Amino acid sequence: MKDIDALKELQKIDGEIFTIKVDIEEKPKGLKKLEDDFIAQSLALKELESDLKTIQLEHKEKELDLQSKEAVVKKQKGQVFQVKTNKELYALQLEIEKENADNSLLEDAILLMLEKIDNIIQSIAQEKSKLAHDQIQLNKNKADIELVIKELNEKLEALHSSRKRVIETGVEPQILELYERILENKGELAIVPVEREMCSGCNRSVRPQIVNELRLGKMKTCENCARIIYVQEDE
Ligand SMILES: [Zn+2]
Repeated sequence: MKDIDALKELQKIDGEIFTIKVDIEEKPKGLKKLEDDFIAQSLALKELESDLKTIQLEHKEKELDLQSKEAVVKKQKGQVFQVKTNKELYALQLEIEKENADNSLLEDAILLMLEKIDNIIQSIAQEKSKLAHDQIQLNKNKADIELVIKELNEKLEALHSSRKRVIETGVEPQILELYERILENKGELAIVPVEREMCSGCNRSVRPQIVNELRLGKMKTCENCARIIYVQEDE
């Protein structure tokens, strides 16, 4: 194989290797966002559960408070028949009225709390079911991506074997070294055709003299982008 033909063959393989490597790098990025969302949702759920605990404790305290206050009123009502004077009776009745009014406010607060507790319990149930669903989806996506990456890695291996076979046909070591150095610098393309007297790597024109030299079979690089250039047989 002529060196230039071997390089063209290598470029074909290296182009595919480049694309696959980009793919392998890009694939897990979509997953990362899903994972981040999932973690954020799990944290939100934990927060809800902690809110629930707090308000349930408060609720218990208020219930106990109400119970002891109602016991006080009950006791005061028992005292109504034991007071000696109208003045004492009046004072006691006032006291009972005030306690009853306070207790009624406390009952309202407890009702509001119960409503809030119900709402939080409902939200927790919704979040839990959503998280369970997302977990399944996430695992599925993970497995899909792992499979795709495994296949891409197998392709890479096969391409590297092909690459080795091309090199083993006997490419001039200095030329191979030049090609690989350019490939490392440019990433995807190290050798490109000249089309209509333009380098197809950088789209800048190639001097006619250089095109002539290429036609004579010389190896040349683009004066602008430094890639190896060649002319197609039919140009
Ligand atoms: Zn160029």
